[in-house]
Amino acid sequence: MSQPVFRFAPSPNGALHLGHAHSALLNHDRAKAVGGRFLLRIEDIDTDRCKPEFEQAIYDDLAWLGIDWEKPVRRQSEHFGEYRDALEKLIKADLVYPAFLSRGEVRGIIAEAEGRGEHWPHDPDGVPLYPDAERGLSKRTRARRLKAGEPFAWRLDMEKALEAVGTRLYWEERGSGAEGETGKVRARPLLWGDVVLARKDTPTSYQLSVVIDDALQGVTEVVRGRDLFHATSVQRLLQALLGLPAPAYFHHELILGPDGRKLSKSLKDTGLKSLREAGVTPGQVREMVGL
Ligand code: GLU
Repeated sequence: MSQPVFRFAPSPNGALHLGHAHSALLNHDRAKAVGGRFLLRIEDIDTDRCKPEFEQAIYDDLAWLGIDWEKPVRRQSEHFGEYRDALEKLIKADLVYPAFLSRGEVRGIIAEAEGRGEHWPHDPDGVPLYPDAERGLSKRTRARRLKAGEPFAWRLDMEKALEAVGTRLYWEERGSGAEGETGKVRARPLLWGDVVLARKDTPTSYQLSVVIDDALQGVTEVVRGRDLFHATSVQRLLQALLGLPAPAYFHHELILGPDGRKLSKSLKDTGLKSLREAGVTPGQVREMVGL
């Protein structure tokens, strides 16, 4: 059997907090326990919000926690060409389409439907689904609007994608979702509607790059927070469409703040750097996150 591969994949768009420490330590512990490899991946496709100083802080925080990772680190911003190739495949297969509606136009369509008494569906994160109004635009209209330089996003045509796969999809869950889902979990990508896979000026998205990287890096178990449990449905679908292997998943509980809400990168007091400067030890961090 080949060696198990784990990865911790933070975005350098803010300072790491206790929730990240939990995820990184759990990944690292699980890798060590089974003699597996541990990789660190920098998810920096959002080149506006990601900053070199946050990336450096990730290295400092993880080293302080006693975590070691393989070098060189994969930085997503260095691999846009690979993501573009995968996107091209989906464009050729006619599974994605350029979506031109502005936020205001989307809001207008939804308000109008709700005004007629229609119930508008929301995705698992609570965001209203994108209207399906543009699936049927003619090739000519699309080409003309693209040529005119209109802003757009590449969206997956969810119905076509499910048809192309033609079978139910499942993933192996070794942790659990918020409702205790574990073991063989059925993927429900339809709940997300026509998700964005790339933007006019960025040939990828979180969902697209994560499945490509997990496959390219041979990741066998994805250990991450439960907030990404439902995103796994879309990732499982993309793996099936692109012919990529599916890792097992371990979704862990989230560390909540004193107010019972998910920690955020702007909450200074749970930042790892602040804790370090306040004299907290890595051992105490482990205790604080229940490891
Ligand atoms: N980059 C993502 C984040 O920082 C995590 C991605 C993943 O683990 O799949 O939330």
